[in-house]
Amino acid sequence: MIIILKDSATPEQVDHVIERVESLGLQAHLSRGTYRTVIGVIGDEEKLQAAPLMAIPGVAQVMPVLPPYKLASRQAHPQPTVVDVSGVKIGGGHLALIAGPCAIESAERMDGIARAVKAAGANLLRGGAFKPRTSPYSFQGMGEDGLKILREAGDKYGLPVVTEVMDPRRIEMVVEYADMIQLGARNMQNFVLLTEVGATNKPVLLKRGMSATIKDLLMSAEYILSEGNPNVVLCERGVKGFDTETRNLYDVSAVPVCHGLSHLPIVVDPSHATGRPDLIVPCALAGVAAGADGVHVEVHDQPEEALSDGAQALLPDQYTELVGQIRRLADLLGKQISPSGGLAEV
Ligand code: PEP
Ligand code: MN
Repeated sequence: MIIILKDSATPEQVDHVIERVESLGLQAHLSRGTYRTVIGVIGDEEKLQAAPLMAIPGVAQVMPVLPPYKLASRQAHPQPTVVDVSGVKIGGGHLALIAGPCAIESAERMDGIARAVKAAGANLLRGGAFKPRTSPYSFQGMGEDGLKILREAGDKYGLPVVTEVMDPRRIEMVVEYADMIQLGARNMQNFVLLTEVGATNKPVLLKRGMSATIKDLLMSAEYILSEGNPNVVLCERGVKGFDTETRNLYDVSAVPVCHGLSHLPIVVDPSHATGRPDLIVPCALAGVAAGADGVHVEVHDQPEEALSDGAQALLPDQYTELVGQIRRLADLLGKQISPSGGLAEV
């Protein structure tokens, strides 16, 4: 940590800062320049982070050298983390192709969509049983009945399943059915939920909040990692923008930024990022080209009948086309796509 003192800092104030640093068991190195006096601190920064040094008279700025997301940081773990979701690898050169409807709506529909995305080449199946809806009057999801339908379709088509949990009281139930737990954008900073999911060993798909900075996202990942669950995959799904052309503002730069700052894999979700089927293919490819470790896309066979997010869903044929393009790009980039399991009954 570096402490920069004000021009007006008195020698007594400088001494006081040094005493405070040393009282925490850290070493202080004073350097006086022509314009600035700076104190370099050596030792465990954690001890200083808790101390409100900015409150000491004479201190102009306090600059941490290490990021506060210690476990999520690239420094902590130089090699990329590879998360294994029931045999499907994500990260370190392995791409996840996550697809399925926004919400699980019925067993027949889930079966048809699962069959289609499997045939297209997806390696993970998604579907929400607990839906975070803006309106309390909108379809809220099928709950446990939906989880059973998702599990059945996943088993039948050999696709590990991803589904959202919104409530810490439902974690036990969701963990029983899911191979990967999704924490949605609206819950990215639900710290109780993060902590409870961190206490499980399930892979987690952690979506970036719509108003969250990348640092916020990595701090939320830190909550999960610090509870002992190392299986975190980040997801860029767009942030609030001012333009109304797209649902959100797709921050494709978050992919290389996160790769620079963290060892965790990051996938892109062009469905929620753009809200427009015509933008999903180019934005998915841009994400992969930027180094994303996977693509998460909503697919529906009858988007006009969908109970949520129908307007942004790709049709199965469009998804098949997209996977073909992702595969060509993956070959070019030397990325692999883990095959999912075989079909149980098809
Ligand atoms: C979803 O995946 O259907 C969803 C609600 O996503 P987000 O949390 O990114 O809005
Ligand atoms: Mn959705």
